[in-house]
Formats: sequence, structure tokens, C-alpha cells
Amino acid sequence: MSFSLFSSQSTAHLRFHSQSLPLSLLLKKCTALSQLQQIHAHIITSQPSLSLVIALFRSYTSFGSLTHARLLLDRFPSPHFPSTLLSNSLIQAYSKTPNSQESLHLFRRMLAVSGPAFPDKYTFTFVIVASSRQPSPEFGASVHGQVVRNGFASDVFVSNSMVNMYSCFGRMDDAQKLFDDMPQPDTVSWTSLIGGYTKRGEVTVARELFDKMPERNDVSWAVMTAGYVGSGRFNEALHLFHDMLHNHKVKPNEAVLVCVLSACAELGALDQGKWIHVYLDKSCVPKSSSISTALIDMYAKCGRVECATQVFDNMFSRDVCTWSSMITGLAMHGHGKEALRVFTKMLDEGINPDDILLLGVLNGCSHAGLVDEGCSIFNNMKHFWGIEPKIEHYGCLVDLLGRAGQLEKAYDFVKSMPVDPDIIIWRSLLSACRIHGYVDLGEQIIDHIAQLDPSSYGGGYALLSNLYASLGRWDKVGRVRKEMSARSKSNPGCSWIEIDGVVHEFLAADRLHPQIVEIRNELNVILKRISTTGYFANTKQVLFDLSEEDKEQAISWHSEKLAVAFGLMSTKSGSPIRIVKNLRICEDCHSAMEAISLVFDREIVVRDRSRFHTFKQGKCSCLDYW
Ligand code: ZN
Ligand code: ZN
Repeated sequence: MSFSLFSSQSTAHLRFHSQSLPLSLLLKKCTALSQLQQIHAHIITSQPSLSLVIALFRSYTSFGSLTHARLLLDRFPSPHFPSTLLSNSLIQAYSKTPNSQESLHLFRRMLAVSGPAFPDKYTFTFVIVASSRQPSPEFGASVHGQVVRNGFASDVFVSNSMVNMYSCFGRMDDAQKLFDDMPQPDTVSWTSLIGGYTKRGEVTVARELFDKMPERNDVSWAVMTAGYVGSGRFNEALHLFHDMLHNHKVKPNEAVLVCVLSACAELGALDQGKWIHVYLDKSCVPKSSSISTALIDMYAKCGRVECATQVFDNMFSRDVCTWSSMITGLAMHGHGKEALRVFTKMLDEGINPDDILLLGVLNGCSHAGLVDEGCSIFNNMKHFWGIEPKIEHYGCLVDLLGRAGQLEKAYDFVKSMPVDPDIIIWRSLLSACRIHGYVDLGEQIIDHIAQLDPSSYGGGYALLSNLYASLGRWDKVGRVRKEMSARSKSNPGCSWIEIDGVVHEFLAADRLHPQIVEIRNELNVILKRISTTGYFANTKQVLFDLSEEDKEQAISWHSEKLAVAFGLMSTKSGSPIRIVKNLRICEDCHSAMEAISLVFDREIVVRDRSRFHTFKQGKCSCLDYW
């Protein structure tokens, strides 16, 4: 071989000898941008063939160096080269980058300069893709006009990209109209339209279209599944997945698996999550980092943090999302020290945290009472990692101080924050007041909450009335109740439990479950049995000024109690019961779970909105500190 291509320390060099290989072959061997530039420099002084220029151009785009590709295009202008082809590649390449604006500039230039570079259907397709990444739909709409003028409106590729573009901007009327006007929409057209509706949260419309599709591909399934997951309809996502596998015999792609794993995670559907893990192992699909991250998240949220750790340890390369899932998982199990250890290891490997990961670390410190560590990480966020704390990070610190009983310090911190405290911050401070018995401060905080705009927080009035109720201030409860019925609806409590691979959903005071009568009877028996251990219903949490007995009825129908009764009925004695709850578990349910775990000798794991509670022998892993 008469040339050598080698790397010397940090820079790579090409060496040309007198009898060099053809440049086109040399190009294929390039492994660094600097090598391409050497070839570029070489051909500038010669008369390169068209194919060589194109090959170099392609190499630049595949190296992601669009600036150089563009220089090359400008250096060898028409009429000698088929500029449409090259311009199209460049427009396409730019459309995929954050710099998609460049595609539009190139397109404008193509229109302005009359020459051999005229836009064809590919040009329009790529420009429309670039338009859909712009902040506003105006440019896209003007390209739509060009499409019609240039006679490409009936082209299916061009139309598909326009349906997709309007969907991206949520302009479903325009997207639907384009779709309706298409003589023969294909699978891509249908899928784009479905994706548009799911993005707007119109999942039912999307599903109707999905069912009407003449033919579906793996992307269509993925888009529909993601639609369900994105709008919190996790159980429907799982049903769709089963339908896909068993009735339609479609092999799930990575996107579907990631979505379904996240649905399992949200529902605490451990059996189905495990099934996917086994499926992945059996089908020998190489586990990408997003699949592994989804597995870690699923195991952690389903209460199996040790399995999450196993997946984590077996990974070859981990990105910041993977570390983040692991740390957040450990944190929500109250393993704050372990979360800190993993965090330190990550820093040692030279990976920088992002703001979500730091939130996980701070949460870990908070749940494990690691006050000094948490404060030091918070104080150094900006200095070490250039991350400006957001309201969530402030919230974590307030939580950390509040849980540790440093209420005055927490309150002072809230008052000195550069951002306005939101409902979550006030609420966590208030829980701390309740747990540590700071009644006066508690009432001050409720007054702060009352001054916030109720529409700015979930559950608004219901929360407020609940808070006054917990202090026995029935006069204030009454006032808030009146406003409440006039305005908002509160978020209903909902719990899920998986039995034999089926996820059952319970709402507070549920009447929908087919076995609800049996379940209620069972729950009455259970409550009676645990009352012998000293459990009595804690009615402070109930919203209304009911008589004590009525109050006890109202809280006994909390969704997690229904779920635990169903769990006890439907599982073998001694097997653990896992429940997921969408809101924070209330104090009464918490003490009921403690008592049930003792009397029925069962491990009960409840994941509520903020953490895991593992009840064993009458004690909870959170040590009543949540
Ligand atoms: Zn409850
Ligand atoms: Zn607990």
C-alpha cells in the first residue's frame, strides 16, 4: 500500500505518496474531519470529478460537518453539478439539526437564484420537516403555498410531511383537511395524523383513527402506545400492547417497549414489566441505553430497587438519564446514602449531572435526613455544574429542612428565596409542621396558601378545605367549600394493584369494580380486625364536617384501602401486596396499612406520589416521616 492513514496522538493525518490511491477510496477510509479537510484542500487545486465532489460532500454530512459541506457546495457551483441533489442533501441534513433554520435559508436561495438547482418533491419534503421545527407555523404555511403552486400537492411524500408539520403545531383542522384531500393516504399519513391527535391529548379520536387504519406498521403501534402513556392512560397502553402481541402478532420495536415499560412503572405492574425483561433477554435484542434506563425505572418504581441495581450494574455504557433513573430510584426508596454513593461514582467517571438528576440526589438526601450533604449539594449547584436551581430544587431543600424538624430555618429560607414559593413548597412545609407539631406556623402557612390563586395549583380549594379541616377550623372549611363547589373539581384519588398480570384500578368510594360489594365487605372485616390492635380511624383528614361515624365511612373507602382489601382477597397468604397510589397516602391509610401488615402478617408496599412505604410487622420503612 502506497499511503498510510494513521492517527498520531491526538491529531490524525493522511499521508499522500507519489503513487497514491484514488482519492475516492481514500475518502472511505477517513476517520476524522481533519482528514476530509486535507482531501478538500487537495481537490481545490485540481479538476475533481463530479463523483468525487459528491463523495466528499456526503462524507462531510455524515461527519455532521455541515459548514464544510456547504463551503464545498459554494466552491463548486452550477452549471457543472446537479445542484438540486446536493442542495437537497444539505437541506435534509440541516433539517435534522437544532440549526434547522439553515434549511430554510438554503431553500430561499434555491428559489431566488434561477439555475439548475430547482426544488423538487424531495426539497419540499425536507423543507417542510425543517419548518415543523420552527417556533411558529408561518413559514410552513408559506411552503404549503409553494407546494401547491409547484404542483406537488398530490405527492404522497410531500403531503405526509405537511400533515406531520401541521400536527406538530397542533393545527389538527389543517392536518385533517390535508389528509382528507389525499387520494391515497398511506400508513405514514395515518400515523402522522394519529400522532398529531395524541399530542393534543385527543387520544380517543386518535384511537378511532387507529382502529380504522387499513394497515399498521411498528411505528403506528408505537405512536398509539405513546399517546396513551403521554396522557396518563397507562392501563389502556398495556391493553394495546397485548393486542399487538397476541392478536396482531406484531413484533414491538424499541419505542413501544420503552413506552410499555414506563406504563408498567407508573402502574406498579411488576409482573408485566418482568415479562418484558424476559422477552428482551429471550429475543436477544441488544439492550440500548434507553431500554435499560426504562427497565431501571420500572423496577425502581415497582418496588424492586435491587433488580434496578442489577440492570444498572450490567450495563456497559451509561448516559446521564441512566444515572438519573438509578439515583432517583434509590432516593424514592429512602436509600439516600446509596444514592449519594452512586452520584459520587458518576462524578468520578467524569459525567456531569443535569438538573433532573440533582433533583433525585436532593430528594435522596431529604428522605434519608442527610441535611448537611443536601445543603452542600444545593449550595454548589451553580458553582460546580453551572446549574441554576429551579423552583423544584428550592422545594427539595425546604422539604429537607422541614423533615429534619428545622422549621424556622425552612420558613426563613422560603421567605428569602429569589423565586415565589409555589403550592408544593408551602405544602411540604405544612406537612412538616403537622408532623413536628408546629401548630401556629402551620396556620400562618395555610394563610399563605389561601392567598395563592386557587387555579394555580391542583386540587386548589379541596386542598385548602382539607387543611383547615385538619386543624378543626370548620368555619373556614365551610367558606372554602362554597367557593369550591362553584369552581374546580379535585383530582380523584386512585390506586392500582396488579393481580396475575392484570392491573385493577380503584377510585375513592369506588363503585366501578365488578367485585366492589365483596371488596367492601372484606374491607369492613379487615377494619374490624385491626381495630383490636389499637388502630382507630384518624378522621382529621376528612374534608367535611361530618359526624365522626360518617367520617370514618368516608376514609374507609379511600382507594388504597379498597386495593389492599382486594389484594388480601386475591393473593396467597404470606405473599406481598403492592399498591400504587396517584396522591400522597393519608395518615389514616398509613396507620391502617401498618396495622394490616401486623395482623395479617403481610408485607405491603405502597408507592405514593412521593415515595415508597414498605409496611412490615406494623412498621413502615418511612418511619412515619413522609
Ligand atoms: Zn387515605
Ligand atoms: Zn410510610
